[in-house]
Amino acid sequence: IPLGNKKGTQGPPGSTWPEELIALGPGESAWQVVLKKIQELSDSDHRDPFMVANLGVLASRHQAFCRALPWVSPFYAVKRNSSIWVLRVLAILGTSFDCASQMRWIRSRAAPCLFVARALAFWAQRAGMDREAAPECPPCQVELEQVLGLGVAPSRIIYANPCKPVSHIQYAACRGVQLMTFDSEEELTKVAQHHPKARLVLWLWTQDSESTFPLSAKFGATLEVCEHLLQSARALGLAVVGASFHMGSNCQTARSFTQAFADCRRVFEMGRASRHDMSLLDIGGGFPGEEGFEPKFEEMARVINAVLAQDFPVGGGVEIIAEPGHFYAASVCTAAVNIIAKKAVLQPETQFHDEIESTKRSHHFILWLSGVHLNEGHYGIFRIFSREPVPRMPIVVKELCSEPPLFPCTLYGPTCDAFDKLFPGELPMPELDVGDWLVLPSMGAYTTTVSSTFNGFLPASVSYAMDPELRCPEGERRGRVLRGSHQGLSLARRMWLSSAVPGPRNTLLPPPAPAKPK
Ligand code: PLP
Repeated sequence: IPLGNKKGTQGPPGSTWPEELIALGPGESAWQVVLKKIQELSDSDHRDPFMVANLGVLASRHQAFCRALPWVSPFYAVKRNSSIWVLRVLAILGTSFDCASQMRWIRSRAAPCLFVARALAFWAQRAGMDREAAPECPPCQVELEQVLGLGVAPSRIIYANPCKPVSHIQYAACRGVQLMTFDSEEELTKVAQHHPKARLVLWLWTQDSESTFPLSAKFGATLEVCEHLLQSARALGLAVVGASFHMGSNCQTARSFTQAFADCRRVFEMGRASRHDMSLLDIGGGFPGEEGFEPKFEEMARVINAVLAQDFPVGGGVEIIAEPGHFYAASVCTAAVNIIAKKAVLQPETQFHDEIESTKRSHHFILWLSGVHLNEGHYGIFRIFSREPVPRMPIVVKELCSEPPLFPCTLYGPTCDAFDKLFPGELPMPELDVGDWLVLPSMGAYTTTVSSTFNGFLPASVSYAMDPELRCPEGERRGRVLRGSHQGLSLARRMWLSSAVPGPRNTLLPPPAPAKPK
């Protein structure tokens, strides 16, 4: 089944559907595309790992966010998934962006890798390889420049890293990105010198022990030092415009937000006492993002709305923003990986059955599956797994009987490093063979952005898919990119038409008209 080559699919008059984008049929999901692709690859020896990203998911996440938190403007945290397609769709939907760095394009060590990857992709295309098999750009810090490069206005960006390199501050100053966070006096000194017009947001320390990935050990000013910081900013002639916090990623309870709001209230009072115009509250990220987590998010939103109504009511002159990343990106991608090697060991039968007495009598030994080696691992898209408290269960794409026997099995990555495992322990798996596929949903966040090419293994390639008829959801009303003439058009057509958001290699623009014969 050829995928991603829907050349000629009808776009706006005179344009073609971009080669890189898979056109989803009505009701077709990323999961179905993954299965088709597995079928296709299973006939070949090239069973490289891949991901399918359904960009339509971003529209439904945006809608869910705007519905649940109607007074909060989302600034998508680019670090979670910085794919150009993801950013383009979000820019069109009207989110703003949280960036943590400038792009270190030519200056960075990633630059040679980028050029090599681009050259490889070009060569692969010339050699007739499937385009999707060609490597994507390796991950690198591409945040401020990447978002600005899409035509997003600097006012729609918060530079939400409280410890910034001087050169990145200078870049923000020169590109007009004014909103930025800080949590120390040293940062104020740097900003005063290199970006005196910045609009600063004081990042507060929070109690984030109920989050899967806490941040407070590294970031956040405690309430005791806030007054001093606000006065120092004043003395340096800097404008502090608000306060922010981050509950830590994948926050498990809304309770954590209540104290954070109370602390922000205090900081607003302190700021106003120091004659700062406190007009912005940034409630950070931390919202759960995997499929099935909707009730938890909605419950969290209810608590946040109630506290906001009490402490920062609408019409009170305070703009509320958030920096959701995981919430938008996690469920966008589904990954498929292949088993490249398998090891089995002889184990006494007792190890997995409690029939100790009978085994003592029979001394049976049997062959147990002990580990399978996948073509993706810790150094690729699964790096985040080592920090997750509960291992994710992969879906085995294989015909099995209704209740197959399960064996404890370690899932290894492909590199020659013994640490390269998906999870520290073993998972109960059915009997697996070389060539079998495992599928993992909710792989859109912290996967490609944190992967490496360690040991020469390229991370999974990503195919982007979208329903050409998908309409922009209600949440679009927050969009500032959309123009009147774009109302009522599908998301895909808006991508074609939006001049504010040029595409990668302009693939979404109509192709140039053929030259007239002389
Ligand atoms: N904002 C900042 C400053 C962050 O450090 C992070 C994640 O680490 C986020 C936003 C995104 O958080 P989440 O993906 O949990 O929503």
